[in-house]
Amino acid sequence: MEVRPQDGCVPLNGQIATFQRLTPKENAMQTRRKFIQIVPVAGAALLAGREVLAQARPADALDPKSPQATGLKYVEKTANPAQKCTNCQLYQAKATDPWGGCPLFAGKKVAGEGWCSAWVKKA
Ligand code: SF4
Repeated sequence: MEVRPQDGCVPLNGQIATFQRLTPKENAMQTRRKFIQIVPVAGAALLAGREVLAQARPADALDPKSPQATGLKYVEKTANPAQKCTNCQLYQAKATDPWGGCPLFAGKKVAGEGWCSAWVKKA
């Protein structure tokens, strides 16, 4: 490493360690480089956060352990992707909505990826 006049030296455990002082231009370039590295990571983290919020369990979600749910073997994650709430005739939401209503569980939301034994293929 080349030591320049603006660089410094400090005693460290009996040895002399050198360090480089950055010129204001070098410092600005490093800051800009770090910013450019951070922006895509922060953007990806924000998108992931939005995805998590969109999938967040609503307060009025049906409790899979409730007697009504267990009576119809309701689960929040279907074992058979060909049969799930979003493609059930009784699902009361858009097929892209992660949660929606179901007349069998009035006042509660069922998971779009859920399933129960009353599943009926959407016409
Ligand atoms: S009937 Fe069952 S499968 Fe159909 S939307 Fe309601 S909970 Fe989901």
